[in-house]
Amino acid sequence: MDLEYSAEHQAFRDEVREFLEGWPLKGDEARLPQEEQEQIFRKRGIEAGYVYRAVPKQYGGSEQPQDAIKDRIIVEEFYAAGAPRDLMSQGAGLMVPTLLEFGTEEQKERWIPPALTGEANWCQGYSEPGSGSDLASLQCQARLDGDEWVLNGQKIWTSSAQRAHMMFGLFRSEPDAKKHEGITYLLVPMDAEGIEVRPLREMSGGYEFNEVFFDDVRVPVENTVGKRGQGWQISRATLVHERNLIGNPNSMREAFSDLLDLARSRKINGVPANEDPGMRRRIAEIEGYVQTSQLSNMRQFTAANKGKMLEVMRPMMMNKVAGTDIMQMIMKCAYDLLGGDGILAPTESELDTWGRQTTSTGWVLQYVFSMGPAIAGGASNIQRNIIGERGYGLPRDLRRES
Ligand SMILES: Cc1cc2nc3c(=O)[nH]c(=O)nc-3n(C[C@H](O)[C@H](O)[C@H](O)COP(=O)(O)OP(=O)(O)OC[C@H]3O[C@@H](n4cnc5c(N)ncnc54)[C@H](O)[C@@H]3O)c2cc1C
Repeated sequence: MDLEYSAEHQAFRDEVREFLEGWPLKGDEARLPQEEQEQIFRKRGIEAGYVYRAVPKQYGGSEQPQDAIKDRIIVEEFYAAGAPRDLMSQGAGLMVPTLLEFGTEEQKERWIPPALTGEANWCQGYSEPGSGSDLASLQCQARLDGDEWVLNGQKIWTSSAQRAHMMFGLFRSEPDAKKHEGITYLLVPMDAEGIEVRPLREMSGGYEFNEVFFDDVRVPVENTVGKRGQGWQISRATLVHERNLIGNPNSMREAFSDLLDLARSRKINGVPANEDPGMRRRIAEIEGYVQTSQLSNMRQFTAANKGKMLEVMRPMMMNKVAGTDIMQMIMKCAYDLLGGDGILAPTESELDTWGRQTTSTGWVLQYVFSMGPAIAGGASNIQRNIIGERGYGLPRDLRRES
């Protein structure tokens, strides 16, 4: 397998690296609040043609010719440079591609540009108490009243709702229709009267999840994406984008390299942990998974690039489950290396900027967080059912249908 990039692509990589010398921002800009710094960086990334390449210029994207290898180089270099992680936030990563596919012209022009620059934050209102894996059983109601929807009910596990300006959500508009029909996809302003956001405390000590309550919330009918009752099909499209964002091999490689540093800095029986035979064996095993996942990803990438996507459908279905399992292995190993420091609670500032934190308490936070992605966007058990049934044609699992 030839893993080298062409001279033209190597030159492109150098250009991207040069651009990334501008991150973190310097001088006066470095003193701006983090959110504003990230907005500046996004705008520069769009102007330079490195971010939101598939989004047309008229909607605020950088509209570059399709080049999967360049896209990949950009992702690799942005990761290596520690560029802002929320470039693919819920707005830009999930809502934007969904609107590009199903939105009206007016919706695209209005909602996409501020989602890309980060001026408008979005949250995803899908899950409800009792409707997670069985999402189609959702009950949060949308009743049409003239040219407005009236919303009543509750959502749960809504990440970052406390910071969001808008929600893209699913609501039951025809209570008597079959469960997968009668669901409508709506864009809801979070400052609308009748919305209450209540934070849920996580085991890390932080607040990122919320419950969102709707009490006669009125939303204009033009905020409907697609047709009334078509919400289920539209939400499927969003979920594909969500799963593709989880299980990224770059974050896995990065976390593994941090794990090696941690093993070098910790001791087992008086010697550096990376020299302890038991720990070496454990780390070597994890490295095997990381390498395999990266090579599988390369294979999928090459096949997709040659238009042979069907050949790699099964490994593609496994990316999320494998990626989240491997991340959990890395974090559990790091947690074990911490020994007694593992009982330390993360600091307030670490809670604010979760991500690649390699202090002891930062590792505790990463360990705790690593359990979430295996549930978000479709729990691993459900993913395994999908791989078995759709990927390998195994008999269907027993289901309660209504
Ligand atoms: C970090 C994180 C962020 C999230 N962010 C959001 C968000 O922003 N917006 C949003 O709407 N939701 C969000 N969620 C919610 C998430 O989508 C749900 O947690 C997920 O769909 C699982 O649903 P549930 O929690 O109701 O669990 P359940 O569906 O009750 O499942 C509980 C357990 O039973 C298993 N199970 C259930 N049915 C089956 C079956 N048929 N076969 C085999 N096993 C089964 C599941 O795999 C799981 O292990 C987030 C969750 C997490 C962890």
